[in-house]
Amino acid sequence: MSQISKNIALIKQRIIQATDEAKRDSEQIHLLAVSKTKPVEAIEEAYRCGIINFGENYLQEALQKQIKLKDISLTWHFIGPIQSNKTKEIAKNFTWVHTVDRLKIAERLSRQRPTHLPELQICIQVNISAEPTKSGCLPSEVLALANAINALPNLKLRGLMAIPEPTENITLQRKAFAELFRLKQTINAQLSFSLDTLSMGMSHDLESAIIEGATWIRIGSAIFGERSYKV
Ligand SMILES: *Cc1c(COP(=O)(O)O)cnc(C)c1O
Repeated sequence: MSQISKNIALIKQRIIQATDEAKRDSEQIHLLAVSKTKPVEAIEEAYRCGIINFGENYLQEALQKQIKLKDISLTWHFIGPIQSNKTKEIAKNFTWVHTVDRLKIAERLSRQRPTHLPELQICIQVNISAEPTKSGCLPSEVLALANAINALPNLKLRGLMAIPEPTENITLQRKAFAELFRLKQTINAQLSFSLDTLSMGMSHDLESAIIEGATWIRIGSAIFGERSYKV
């Protein structure tokens, strides 16, 4: 067995354990393999283990990989910060975008989404701990942004995403994820449509995220190994 296949088996065990503890159905947890900085060979190996959803943070890196991997049917998720000049290629080449945090970006993605493709699946990134330096909109801004995105064609607003401050403290991990869950419930009570997605949880905190209601967990290093540079 390759290291990647062992790692994936281990992640699946961790998902099962956490869903058991949370009395949730493990079918509700979707695994996004975060392949940033990793070579296409690693993605091919994960694909052979049954992984089809891959997350990338850097557009140029992602596009190069997509070209090399065009013969296998993968689903690509954009999970990095988005500048306006990147929206066109993101709209053309991804199925999901987890990191929309302002209306201008959503409007561009909507306008630039090729109409022969299905609606682009969108999560609003929330700065859940309201850290001044972090990306994501403030919790108080989410409702207005959700309504505005919902009114745009070619996009399908699915839910919320957050990257809380990394901590080993389980109580603090769960507190941040619980806040995102509560925010989704509050928003859903005020919308005419319903958000069904919470993109939260990474290699070190996936259990806490699952217990608090994650539907997508984004796992990089626990599948592909540590990255050689920090991003
Ligand atoms: C890098 C990254 C991940 C994966 O992080 P790991 O700790 O390696 O699992 C998940 N989400 C986002 C947005 C990332 O940038």
